[in-house]
Amino acid sequence: MSPRVVVIGAGFGGIAAAAALLEAGFDDVVVLERAASTGGVWRDNTYPGCACDVPAPLYSYSFAPNPRWSRRFPAHDEILAYLRATADRLGVTGRVCLNAAVTSATWTGGHWRVETADGTTYEADVLVPAVGQLGNPVLPAIPGSYEGPVVHTARWRDDLPVDGARIGVIGTGASAIQLVPAIAGRAAHITVFQRTPPWTLPRPDRRYGRGRRYAYGKMPSLMLLPRAGVWAMTVVTGRAITGGRVAGALVRTASRVQRRLQVRDADLRARLTPVDPMGCKRVLFTNDWLPALTRPDVSLVTEKILETTPSGVRTADGQVHECDLLVYATGFAATDFLAGIRVTGRDGRALADEWAAGAYAHLGLTVPGFPNLFLVYGPNTNTGNTSVLYFIEHQAAYLVQAVRRLASGANPLEVRREVAAAYDEEIQQRLTRSVWASCRSWYRNAAGRVVTNWPGMASEYRRRVARLRPSDYISRNG
Ligand code: NAP
Repeated sequence: MSPRVVVIGAGFGGIAAAAALLEAGFDDVVVLERAASTGGVWRDNTYPGCACDVPAPLYSYSFAPNPRWSRRFPAHDEILAYLRATADRLGVTGRVCLNAAVTSATWTGGHWRVETADGTTYEADVLVPAVGQLGNPVLPAIPGSYEGPVVHTARWRDDLPVDGARIGVIGTGASAIQLVPAIAGRAAHITVFQRTPPWTLPRPDRRYGRGRRYAYGKMPSLMLLPRAGVWAMTVVTGRAITGGRVAGALVRTASRVQRRLQVRDADLRARLTPVDPMGCKRVLFTNDWLPALTRPDVSLVTEKILETTPSGVRTADGQVHECDLLVYATGFAATDFLAGIRVTGRDGRALADEWAAGAYAHLGLTVPGFPNLFLVYGPNTNTGNTSVLYFIEHQAAYLVQAVRRLASGANPLEVRREVAAAYDEEIQQRLTRSVWASCRSWYRNAAGRVVTNWPGMASEYRRRVARLRPSDYISRNG
């Protein structure tokens, strides 16, 4: 018997999970996607300049290497096309129900009952929420009366007034540093509102020529070379942000040299010099962010934003910065896992109550009291330095082990509370010593608990999830 599996979300995570199950011979898989098409964040983020900030040889599934990447850091549409083509090829697309926003999932003592916004219900033995961490944009509550158009980067539209316009961009994270250089020169003026300067590094981008693509197509194993090279690079950045002295010094120096070479004006450079420790927020690979800020038609404002006025943004120095378009590059509600989905486990326990102090999950995958629930890209499985797809693939492999056990007649898999608690204690202990505990970032929830990030190297995570240990689970019927 093939257990019935409902996957929520058709982005990189959900597609990897469904593909792994199909590959393993479990074909009773439905993927429920709230939007009208597949692709997750790569469907949602279409702002000018949007591209991957992890090199494509690593930001691609290991089971679907792509010989056709046009460059090392491809643009969002190329990544979306890759993801959709892979989903088609692996038979996942046909399993996806679009416009199916899951509103609730309830464990009914033997299986999950999943309901979507239009009232349709699905029954499943296994529930796999794969909704990502960066799907729900945040617009900070800035008081005011701005009357012009407002947009979040993740909701960009092609009809926005950009050419010849005065544009205000709030935020200087991964999205802003791609957007601003892409629209500089098109806009009449861009005002960038910076609260905290990010750490940047040169982006070692390059085009992949026809010869290389041909060779990769003919001999796919050649693609392991650039993958290994990028992996090595992420090991250095990973060591740098997890306390490695040599790697830290190396990476900080590279960042300092980049600032010195790209920003000649000492005052501007000082305002762009990070104050947070490196790794507190994502280290950003870019060659054109700092040069864009030196342009005469781009200004960097570091005064605190007080409010909006009908025609612009007022900062603490009293100045009003006029704009015809206001862009929020202000990130996502990453710590609100499964926002909008009411999940109820054994004995009517709400997942929201289980997570009242902050989301947690054993191995980032499964929660006590919620049998046969396996999260993809769940709590504490985000990475600040490498490809999240690496984590996702190993979660999918763990899921396959779980489904295999269920297929062979095992009772529902419910992780032991003491196992999950010990794991969580260990992860949180390590995180309190991490760089993320010391500064404001989207990795921490309102109570200050780091709920998104994995504390170590990616290879450790792979080791931890490589084998499902039956003794971690309660053997209980229904
Ligand atoms: P983000 O990294 O969370 O950055 C949000 C920015 O908005 C920060 O600069 C933040 O300032 C600022 N901000 C937030 N509230 C503000 C307020 N009230 N007033 C002034 N400034 C405010 O968001 P993001 O740039 O969208 O990136 C989020 C994540 O998406 C990234 O870490 C990355 O994982 C992913 N991403 C990936 C790519 C890619 O290429 N693969 C591209 C874009 C995004 P503070 O720093 O002071 O908080």
